[in-house]
This record gives sequence, structure tokens and C-alpha cells, in this order.
Amino acid sequence: MSAYDPSNIFAKILRGEIPCTRVYEDDAALAFMDIMPRTDGHVLVIPKVAARGILDMPPEALGPYMQAVQKVAAGVKAGMNAEGLTLQQFNETAGGQVVFHLHFHILPRWEGVAVRPHSGAMEKPELLEGHAKKIRAALGV
Ligand code: AMP
Repeated sequence: MSAYDPSNIFAKILRGEIPCTRVYEDDAALAFMDIMPRTDGHVLVIPKVAARGILDMPPEALGPYMQAVQKVAAGVKAGMNAEGLTLQQFNETAGGQVVFHLHFHILPRWEGVAVRPHSGAMEKPELLEGHAKKIRAALGV
């Protein structure tokens, strides 16, 4: 496995060097809207420690991080009034990973509504903020 590269885009978001549409933050994790959402309300949850994927995540940091993933998932489901959730986590290029800082995708799901293909198009910031507002309200933050 390659070494963690601190110049990846999520590390820059963590350091506040580039903006994100934030929905949740605690000591272990930061959650924000995916800029190219595959469903409405698509959120990413990243750990604050430097980990490339699930395999190099320090085991002692995994518990608090996964608790944040679970908490945000509940907020996404409630805030987006979803019927279900899909969680995804990719490791290395062969596994579908594009950004090499560990992240879970949280996709709210509704019966009969498919996940959109990757278009490469960025969503309008005001639409992302509208969804983030509902999720933050459900999380009480
Ligand atoms: P993957 O590494 O395959 O799990 O995919 C990375 C995800 O990060 C994709 O869903 C992108 O849309 C998303 N993404 C990339 N850059 C940003 C960004 N600056 N802010 C929010 N999401 C991003």
C-alpha cells in the first residue's frame, strides 16, 4: 500500500484549506456533502486521523470514527426522509477509490429511485446546502 499523501483533497478540507458543505463534526470525524452526489443527500464521513483506507486506520481510532458514521447515517436518513441507506467505502484504485483519505459514503435511498451514475458534474452549492440544512437539523447541530 502507498503511504498516506497529505496533499489529498480531503486532507485539505480537514485543514480548512478548501471549503466543504459541512453537516457534522466531532473529535473523530468530519462529515460533509459529496460535491457530485449520486443520490440527493449523499454525505461523506472522514476520520480526522491520516488514514488512506480501512487497512491503515489506527484500530483505536476506528471505534470513535464508526460511531460518527452511524450517527451521521441516522441524521441523513431522518433529515432526507429516506426509506433506506446505502453505505460504501472503497480501497485503492482497484477497489474504486479516487480520493486517498478514508471515507464512508452515506447514500439515502428510496424505493424505485436508482443511484445516479458518476456524471463528473458538480452539484449547485445552494442545493447541497439545502440538503445539509435538513441533515444538520435532524442531527440537532
Ligand atoms: P471515492 O474515492 O471513489 O470514494 O470517491 C470520492 C468521492 O469524493 C466522490 O464521490 C466525489 O464526488 C467526492 N469528492 C471529490 N472532491 C470533493 C470535494 N471537494 N468535496 C466533496 N466531495 C468531493
